[in-house]
Amino acid sequence: MGRIFSGIQPSGELHIGNYLGAVKNWVALQHTAESIFCIVDYHAIITAYEPAQLRQRRREMAIGLLAAGLDPQVCSLFVQSDVPEHTELAWIFNTVTPLGELERQTQFKDKSQRMESVSAGLLNYPILQAADILLYRADLVPVGEDQLQHLELSRVIARRWNAEFAPDTGFFPEPQPKLTPTRRIMGLDGQSKMSKSMGNTIGLLESKDEIWTKLRPAVTDPKRIKKTDPGTPEVCNIYQLHKAFSAPDTVEHVAVQCSTAGWGCIDCKKVLLESMETELVPIRARAERLRAEPSLVDDALATGAGRCRATARETMQGVRERMGFA
Ligand code: ATP
Ligand code: MG
Repeated sequence: MGRIFSGIQPSGELHIGNYLGAVKNWVALQHTAESIFCIVDYHAIITAYEPAQLRQRRREMAIGLLAAGLDPQVCSLFVQSDVPEHTELAWIFNTVTPLGELERQTQFKDKSQRMESVSAGLLNYPILQAADILLYRADLVPVGEDQLQHLELSRVIARRWNAEFAPDTGFFPEPQPKLTPTRRIMGLDGQSKMSKSMGNTIGLLESKDEIWTKLRPAVTDPKRIKKTDPGTPEVCNIYQLHKAFSAPDTVEHVAVQCSTAGWGCIDCKKVLLESMETELVPIRARAERLRAEPSLVDDALATGAGRCRATARETMQGVRERMGFA
């Protein structure tokens, strides 16, 4: 049986795109194979941040992930910077990664366009990501669709390193992605993917009122200008969210009411809000319990880091031997 690894940046609030695209899958998969989930704080420092804010966000992310259903008795949850081997292996991988592959990464092109000054860290981000995964020699990586290109590069890096330093042994496996049916959730602006860095999110732990404040003005089918205009559910982001949160008969009903102009968009959003509440209320309740008992979070992260350090050390020993450092 293989090993599962995935990570999330503490670059902002855990949102329903992260949940539907990745974290919900983590919760399900933790019972199927050895699973390692990482709060990747070295990734999150690539964009400007406040140190105090990073501490706070890392903690909030741990609370969100545990509240979503990660069970520290079943999987390992830890903070990347607690296991220094991640950055050590990333440096090594720098030396086998083709520059051209980094420059053609869509995420690099998108994010660098939005930045005044672009750091080498933004370019090299996928190398650290490859190190995160390969340090545990994981073969399955549950992610959203936006990470497929990065994962492809992880396979290139594994292949290149293996060819150079461990021919015929397959020391590093080539990690494969695992997607969900909700692999790409659009932001409330209807323009780009829901992203922590875009301010177009609904937080997983937000209250019903907060969610409604964001949902009410969210972009729907742009051709539905008046309530009497029939809509096309498939082009509407709210319909996609119904598919993620509502029961199948509700989804069918929504499609009919939209395409016949039986409902206005606000009616449709109210039904969505109730479906979201069904899934999110228990998650919020667990988050409250974790906030009231901080030692539960501390213990989970410490246990996870302890286990991961041991595996990381073992992999690095193998890397050092094969590369002439030991
Ligand atoms: P940032 O804007 O800082 O990059 P992010 O919202 O993209 O933040 P990440 O930490 O980069 O979040 O990604 C965590 C996981 O969530 C990854 O597996 C990623 O593929 C997934 N993910 C992120 N956004 C979405 C989305 N809109 N739909 C589906 N999955 C997503
Ligand atoms: Mg991202």
